[in-house]
Amino acid sequence: MSTNITWHGGEIGPNERRSVVGHGGAIVWLTGLSGSGKSTIARALESLLVHESKALPYVLDGDNVRHGLNGDLGFGERDRSENIRRVGEVAKLMADANLIVITALISPFRADRERVRTIAGTHPFLEVHVATSLEECERRDPKGLYVKARAGQIRDFTGIDSPYEAPEAPELRVGEGSVEVSARAIVEALKTRGVLSR
Ligand code: ADP
Repeated sequence: MSTNITWHGGEIGPNERRSVVGHGGAIVWLTGLSGSGKSTIARALESLLVHESKALPYVLDGDNVRHGLNGDLGFGERDRSENIRRVGEVAKLMADANLIVITALISPFRADRERVRTIAGTHPFLEVHVATSLEECERRDPKGLYVKARAGQIRDFTGIDSPYEAPEAPELRVGEGSVEVSARAIVEALKTRGVLSR
């Protein structure tokens, strides 16, 4: 824990930023099993926001952040929590900068997701459950991870030998329709909450 540090506020507030960027900051937190479609939906949403809404999104993908920021973390319970906490803190800073942050992390535990909701503070926080069934995720197995987990080559794999705590009251549930249907539902939710004004 750091001591003797002070938070330096700036002169520029969210309204002034909005007048430049054209929208507010927000965090779209995609949660779901491996292979449920988080990354795919995140990228489709990113494209829609840029090309149709002329907005400024940024995707924080679980696998990508583990290459750098969280490269020192493993997949044990403690490290998974810390992985999520750090992404939450980064997302919060990016939302301060009026970006629409889209995160794609399994984030299997409710307590971790509640913590990032708290970190988000006053920013709109949309918990989006990509609610694809385990059977379908395992059938897709885009990275071959379920096969490895079933063979005992990966331990603590969410849905196999580690739990996934589904959100009880997410802002949105997607995944049943096509990738485009899911992404468009999130755009609508951002409009409803006033993040996007056009
Ligand atoms: P995750 O990020 O949740 O681990 P990915 O996005 O990497 O999942 O993989 C999901 C896979 O499922 C992709 O290969 C994607 O093309 C496929 N897929 C098939 N139908 C859908 C759908 N309706 N929504 C999202 N992904 C889908």
